[in-house]
Amino acid sequence: MRFESDTIAAISTPVGQGGIGIVRISGPRSLDIAETIFRPWKAAPLADKRSGSLLYGHIINPTDNTNVDEVLLAIMRAPNSYTKEDVVEINCHGGMISVKRALETVLAQGARLADPGEFTKRAFLNGRINLTQAEAVFDVITAKTEESMKLALEQLQGGLSEKLADIRKKLVDISASAEAYIDFPEDDIETKTSLQIRVRLAEIKEEVEGLSATFQEARFFRDGLAVAIVGRPNVGKSSLLNLLLKKDRAIVTELPGTTRDLIEDYLNINGLPIRIMDTAGIRNSEELVEKEGIRRSLDAINKADFIIALLDGSAPLEEDDLQLMKLIREKKAVIVINKSDLPAKISLEGIREKGREYLLISALSGEGVDKLKSAIFHSNLRNWTEEREGVVVTNIRHKTALDKTSSSLGRALGLFLADEPLEFFSIELRDALDSLGEITGTVTTEDILDKIFSTFCIGK
Ligand code: GDP
Repeated sequence: MRFESDTIAAISTPVGQGGIGIVRISGPRSLDIAETIFRPWKAAPLADKRSGSLLYGHIINPTDNTNVDEVLLAIMRAPNSYTKEDVVEINCHGGMISVKRALETVLAQGARLADPGEFTKRAFLNGRINLTQAEAVFDVITAKTEESMKLALEQLQGGLSEKLADIRKKLVDISASAEAYIDFPEDDIETKTSLQIRVRLAEIKEEVEGLSATFQEARFFRDGLAVAIVGRPNVGKSSLLNLLLKKDRAIVTELPGTTRDLIEDYLNINGLPIRIMDTAGIRNSEELVEKEGIRRSLDAINKADFIIALLDGSAPLEEDDLQLMKLIREKKAVIVINKSDLPAKISLEGIREKGREYLLISALSGEGVDKLKSAIFHSNLRNWTEEREGVVVTNIRHKTALDKTSSSLGRALGLFLADEPLEFFSIELRDALDSLGEITGTVTTEDILDKIFSTFCIGK
């Protein structure tokens, strides 16, 4: 594995105006670079300063001695820093120019601009955190609700890796007791040991599968539940979306077929982040723009985790409504009849026949919307409780590796029961251990790392 040992720097705060902006430097030359460009208020070499010192002074451009900014300089010496390397953080005035100029001054001294996520990647490579924790850093940054944040923090604090280490240890024990017999092929495996291996292996397989199964619901807290509001034009999709988001995000209009762009925004229901996909109306249209909108609607239906199929209660059912019911037949969905504040003209019989649950709401008055929110939450989180205990998996990469682990365990168990040579059994066990190791990063490749860290922002 390529091991970076040069000194990197980046702006670690968001672009824009703010109270402060931070340039972070990490690597062996961090302190030298800081020494060259920093004029402390009380003159003293940085080399004498303790880790954790915060110093007041100015950043100076050493080529012409001009003042770059008034700053606070934080020093964190290896290994007591985020990356386990020498780290210097320059706290500038927050603004587009000051932070940018401070970074340029640092880069001019030979630091390299950091790649996305490179500070966190170094924290991983230097053994400060494992891979699931590095990924959790990203999840913390992108957490959309308090609950998402809680799950990300649990993972950052090592909840998942501890559980995996525990599973790993049990597998290693089994592997060891089997290997003992490989070394002494003349001994037949004892009945008691054989039974123990079978029972333990089956238990571990179940444990791995149980962990993998938590992904089904827990993933929504990390990635959001994708909800599509669909229905023919004018049933009230934009009005419902606006009501749910409590802000005017989509255009509400009297004209049918005007919501032509797919608009995405997040909604928070009991901590569940919901990505609402607003869609153009489902309708057989000859008009080109609207056709594109309809294509996107169908696309949204396919991509969504959950569908809100909206009908207009103040009008009779139309062919387009029935068409919609057909389209969502295979999907997780709720049928919502809007405009409950107006006299009902819709035939409820027509809907009941289809055997779907339905809700009555008014996007205008807000009536029934709480029930709708509850339906969205409970239809998708059937096993989720507030007092949830134990570790959950929110990341598809982890789930895939767990599934690989359980497949290997299944094969191992099959070989063992069929009395096949223990060498084959051992190989499957090792594969299972490798797949587990992929999750925390004990077994990893540059490809996996690139894929993970390239999704980070620069400066993290
Ligand atoms: P979309 O085309 O499906 O997005 O529908 P809109 O949200 O643009 O709504 C179409 C029209 O129906 C607008 O005039 C809304 O004010 C009206 N509307 C939406 N929801 C309700 C409701 O619950 N009650 C009543 N009375 N009018 C509504």
